[in-house]
Amino acid sequence: MRIAPLALAATLALPTLAQAADAGPISAARLSADVKVLADSKLAGRSPGGPGEAATLAYIVSQFKAAGLKPAGDKGGWTQAVPLIRFTVAADPKFSLTAGGKTQALAETQQIMAWTQRPTDRVAIENAPLVFVGYGVTAPERGWDDFKGVDLKGKIAVILINDPDFEAQAGEPVAGKFGGKAATYYGRWIYKFEEAARRGALGALIVHETAGAAYPWSTVVASNGESFDVVRPDPAAIHPLLQGWIQRDIAVDLFKAAGLDFEAQKTAARTAGFRPVPLIGASFSAELGVRTARLMSHNVLAQIPGGKRPGESVMFGAHWDAFGIGPADATGDTVRHGAIDDGMGVAGVLEIARAFAHGPRPDRTVVFGVWTAEERGLLGSEYYAQHPTFPLATTAGNLTLDVVQTAGAAHDVVLVGAGQDSLEADLAKAAARQGRSITPDPHPEKALFYRADHFSVAKRGVPTILIMGMAAGHDLVKGGREAGDRWVNDYTTRCYHQVCDNWSPDWDLTGAAQDIDLLYVVGRDLANSTRWPDWNAASEFKPIRAHTKALRK
Ligand SMILES: [Zn+2]
Repeated sequence: MRIAPLALAATLALPTLAQAADAGPISAARLSADVKVLADSKLAGRSPGGPGEAATLAYIVSQFKAAGLKPAGDKGGWTQAVPLIRFTVAADPKFSLTAGGKTQALAETQQIMAWTQRPTDRVAIENAPLVFVGYGVTAPERGWDDFKGVDLKGKIAVILINDPDFEAQAGEPVAGKFGGKAATYYGRWIYKFEEAARRGALGALIVHETAGAAYPWSTVVASNGESFDVVRPDPAAIHPLLQGWIQRDIAVDLFKAAGLDFEAQKTAARTAGFRPVPLIGASFSAELGVRTARLMSHNVLAQIPGGKRPGESVMFGAHWDAFGIGPADATGDTVRHGAIDDGMGVAGVLEIARAFAHGPRPDRTVVFGVWTAEERGLLGSEYYAQHPTFPLATTAGNLTLDVVQTAGAAHDVVLVGAGQDSLEADLAKAAARQGRSITPDPHPEKALFYRADHFSVAKRGVPTILIMGMAAGHDLVKGGREAGDRWVNDYTTRCYHQVCDNWSPDWDLTGAAQDIDLLYVVGRDLANSTRWPDWNAASEFKPIRAHTKALRK
């Protein structure tokens, strides 16, 4: 699409920061200036397809152009059109469970949250049988298959949250097989719905447990029956007709009526020999109206073509979208500015692009993806991964910034997804050159590694590094870990996805510039090398990458 030039860009002036030092070519003042524009109320909280999209894209494109980059989008342009579809469950959906000869209506938001991601205007399920499929995992590299060929056609799969290792006791054969408490992709609700669809299930219901999900029932309800997807040629391939969650006590009663003990079944599901258990005498019915709406949004894609091996690439990414307009805060502001999440990441990608543009031409092509609809389910990056400008098999690595801390210089950088791939060693080396060190994300059970845009290409095999400044407190030069934790707590409780996530002249972007410089250095060295980083042996993504090895020299 063609984009009108934006007045905002022309009037950009570098704000003076209270305190900030640059790191290598990364300028703290320019980071601040970019975020100030992106967080401006004129961009209306940057919702995908919303009133601020055109101006947001125009600003990002203007900065890539000014730095001298080349476009890498559709038909030689700067953007990639991303067709999205929004699903809204109409008021008063009806759900019921029959078990032990009794039929019980399930109240939406109280006992069940369920929706569809099939393009349909009505879902009707009548007395479908239910089958408990344990954790719903197929992991050949771990010798694991919860389904054992069970026929799920016309049936509802009832699935446990997290992976079989999450509650394993020491000495159980499963202990350690799925990385202990640390989350794996197999523990994620998205994986479970997709796998149930691949196994032919009519519907999939996950049993909500707060510890395993890492969030309370209220978070499940917060979706408000609204969900998004990219427009897909075959949505049925990865979306069952109905997908959702039920509360744990509903599952306990359901199992009891079928003559089963929920906890005993959970324990049985922690063995590789587990076989699906039909819930005898139980069935599930649902009737809901669905409204679907198409909207068009866009990724921004820029490149610096490689001088020696342009067919090989290294990719940087961040997401431009935020949460649009929401409820007013105490000051009456309704714009969810998305300054730190992920205005800071976009600013970081722009600074890295400028650094490459001013340096010698890299051997490999360097690609910059600024994604839409991350907050709607990693959709812009997912669409790119389905329709890549540069083949993923020859994308050497993806380096992603999602939330960068604004609390000042730090002795360390927090790495989400530590232990996954060989890029971690490159990051450690680059950090050492800055006199800093890596701190692995202390809460891998929160599954942050599966919740940012790098994941769209990671699950297709591209090795990645994710910097996510809110994963844990940094060891700040001023105030140490305690001050770092205080920043994270304050940001997550007060500002994350809220109106309060706004630009501030009081930020100290010294640490942000250091983190962004780290990613620049790792990416630059990779772009000037012939190396193909790989996943570690224990990673769930290693087999996928191995599959495409023949395409790399
Ligand atoms: Zn984000």
